[in-house]
Amino acid sequence: CATTPPHPEVVEAMLPYLNENFGNPSSIYSFGRQAKTAIEEARKQVASLIGADPSEILFTSGGTESDNLALRGIAYAKKRDGKHIITSLIEHSAVLTTCNYLESEGFIEGKNFRVTYLPVDKFGLVDPDQVKKAITCDTILISIMQANNEIGTIEPIKEIGEIAREKGICFHTDAVQAVGKIPVNVEDLKVDLLSLSGHKIYGPKGIGALYVKKGVKIVPLFYGGHQEQNLRAGTENVPAIVGLGRACEIASRNMEENAKYLTRLRNRLETGIMQKINHVRINGHPIRRLPHILHLCFELIEGEAMLLNMDMKGIQVSTGSACTSGSFEPSYVLIAVGMDPRLAHGSLRLSLGKNNTEEDIDNTIEALAHVVEKLRSMSPLSPNKKGSSR
Ligand code: PLP
Repeated sequence: CATTPPHPEVVEAMLPYLNENFGNPSSIYSFGRQAKTAIEEARKQVASLIGADPSEILFTSGGTESDNLALRGIAYAKKRDGKHIITSLIEHSAVLTTCNYLESEGFIEGKNFRVTYLPVDKFGLVDPDQVKKAITCDTILISIMQANNEIGTIEPIKEIGEIAREKGICFHTDAVQAVGKIPVNVEDLKVDLLSLSGHKIYGPKGIGALYVKKGVKIVPLFYGGHQEQNLRAGTENVPAIVGLGRACEIASRNMEENAKYLTRLRNRLETGIMQKINHVRINGHPIRRLPHILHLCFELIEGEAMLLNMDMKGIQVSTGSACTSGSFEPSYVLIAVGMDPRLAHGSLRLSLGKNNTEEDIDNTIEALAHVVEKLRSMSPLSPNKKGSSR
């Protein structure tokens, strides 16, 4: 979930564009034309993965920029139609902070943007009915993520897309965690804008794309040259674009097989942990969830301590907590799903990749049982300071 290793074929595809094919795609001599052709090939590969037309793909520097371009691009393009945006409480910070910015600084023509942050249920699901109810005559944009990066819950995007289309409101989805992991088709989902990122799908870092449906008008984030249909100025990152294209092409080929494999590994991990360790809770939706994420809460211990101890054993896991000014803030996603903050502190996200093996899973279960036992035996919160693992 945090990132993935670039696929060897991705690296191989990029190398010529870092070496001999270094032309600027805006140049009209042959060096430039070669680079331009490579970009257009990559645009087709990205479009094909999400069922879009190549002309609807804009290359950006990653998921964060795609989210910014979608939200600010629509907000400023539609400021005369309305100033209300609907999103959810569990979006990635790239969406949430952009919404906060539009609320506080997006003061244009006498009125600020107003944002409705929809709650989610205990599984992290947004209710399409609540989206419908939140719509006003001032609503210009709905932005709901396709799948959550912490707990892996897959949102009812198609249902929300139908509502948005019926009401004639632009609909953006942050699909950074979903693309390449589960089938994503922009026509089927009825989205107008969709963000994706290279480094989550075995592509390079610092590259992403925004799908913008034909006919949807956005304004650029910055100004300069005419690249990317005048919507993203600046000389294109040709090697990274080529790498993203290849990563999308590989994902189209392997997604189904990878998803089955990862689901099997994730289930093995989940079963093993539940058998070996007690006082553990699984978070997120039991069915509507990404195949590669397992999110858990361990009672009576801190996620950070587990993370550091697991790292010492060579296993990288993540917590939802962020250390801010000396105090640990529990994850806003876990708070939004109604979790007790004390329990949220003991949360861990284990995310798997296609290169993981059953042996990795079994080692992780063993290591985690060990770490939990050790930490609970030291924990002042533990009633008998033992009895943590089965
Ligand atoms: N949106 C989601 C759901 C993510 O998980 C991430 C990255 O973690 C991003 C956006 C940001 O993407 P990038 O790292 O490419 O800027």
